[in-house]
Amino acid sequence: MELFELTLHELHDKLAKREVSSVEATRALLARIEATDSRVNAYITITPDEALAAAEAADRRIAAGGLTPLTGVPVALKDIFVTRGIRTTCGSKILGNFIPPYDGTVVAKLREAGAVIVGKLNQDEFAMGSSGESSAFGATKNPWNLACIPGGSSSGSAAAIAARSATATLGTDTGGSIRQPASHCGCVGLRPTYGRVSRYGVIAYASSLDQVGPVTRDVTDCALMLGAVAGHDPLDSTSIDLPVPDYAAALTGQVKGLRLGLPKEYYREGLDPDVKRALDVAIEAYRGLGAEFVEVSLPHTDYAVATYYLIATAEASSNLARYDGVRFGHRADGAANLIDMFRRSRAEGFGAEVKRRIMIGTYALSSGYYDAYYLKAQKVRTLIMQDFMKAFEQVDALLTPVAPTPAFKIGEKVDDPLQMYLSDIFTIPVNLAGTCAISVPAGMSAAGLPIGLQLIGRPFGEETILRAAHAFEQATEWHRHTAQL
Ligand code: GLN
Repeated sequence: MELFELTLHELHDKLAKREVSSVEATRALLARIEATDSRVNAYITITPDEALAAAEAADRRIAAGGLTPLTGVPVALKDIFVTRGIRTTCGSKILGNFIPPYDGTVVAKLREAGAVIVGKLNQDEFAMGSSGESSAFGATKNPWNLACIPGGSSSGSAAAIAARSATATLGTDTGGSIRQPASHCGCVGLRPTYGRVSRYGVIAYASSLDQVGPVTRDVTDCALMLGAVAGHDPLDSTSIDLPVPDYAAALTGQVKGLRLGLPKEYYREGLDPDVKRALDVAIEAYRGLGAEFVEVSLPHTDYAVATYYLIATAEASSNLARYDGVRFGHRADGAANLIDMFRRSRAEGFGAEVKRRIMIGTYALSSGYYDAYYLKAQKVRTLIMQDFMKAFEQVDALLTPVAPTPAFKIGEKVDDPLQMYLSDIFTIPVNLAGTCAISVPAGMSAAGLPIGLQLIGRPFGEETILRAAHAFEQATEWHRHTAQL
């Protein structure tokens, strides 16, 4: 087996036994990026010199007995995470030359754990998208079929895992951006509960919905990554002061007696037959492991996409006001005056989808429309949240599809934003409810594309969904399938 093929925990075991060094593992990963990324375009920036220096430091630390689960492991970050001294673009031309003066909290935590950052990953511009196509740095390709999208917005995070050009990655999930690409690329992706992971130094899209989480090869890796980045942070007032459990210890393999809900609104016509079949087989597998199923209802599901696209765009229009060409980012040349400079910088720097969202959000917040759109959306959000809380009175977790179809073709939905928005129909409600969910490989389409299943947990129920995902993974072979590149 090649070094780049190892999971995080397999590499960790080899580092612990001194069978390999971090420098060897890092060199193998950098060579893999070199061999694959011209086709996949998972990376925006590759940092070989910094990575090798960090790997040498990790090897010294290991020799001194300071090994933690992430020490010496090559990881890569969505380009939404602010990294000191390393260009951070958020997939946008407006931040095309932005070199941050500080590290975000999760980046600092990874560095402190001795992880080796090999580069920054491609994404939809400002995390707005479901396909990876809205990046100013070109579309990312799905390693399983280069004609297909990898999903988005954490397109590079999932594609790098599928291409085995990173051992583990971090993404963000505002409406599905970790889970949907993980599903399309055959990876594990977890969106934690709102407040579980600090967002200090994560470029904001929609602040009441954004969360940071891992995209990995398997569930054990996911548990280890989550444990490394979770926890309270005084620099993020929305982060919650709760102890971080030992997530890896939660992976007992036991789901006997676990009560799983099947929301009837998630199993209707319109679901792709391959996805439906994969879910049916998965449900049987869980039954075989001793889980119990209960039909539940989330009656406000149909309103989730519309609600999300009002709240997310409203928050985005406010968050993106800071890109004005004054303090950082692109500044247009030749402006006649200050207002003209703002206008031209933003017109040149933002792509079409970002402009669309800023306009929708500004409209929804404007006086006269605020009550009809934004306030109404907030009320519906509460109803959606209550649907979940009611369901969790009956069950421990919900089992649903991640996306209504497997990965679609590049270009198929770019001219139809509404179709694109509907790709997130099963992931968005989780963000509105503020709870956690995981995507885990659960099958393949007839065309040979991966299909994930989603387990939705109670707020701060990450251990339960990780345990259930792990038990399924151990009972099936889906996570062993690899994209041929
Ligand atoms: N596709 C959704 C959007 O474009 C979700 C994106 C995300 O989770 N960042 O808003």
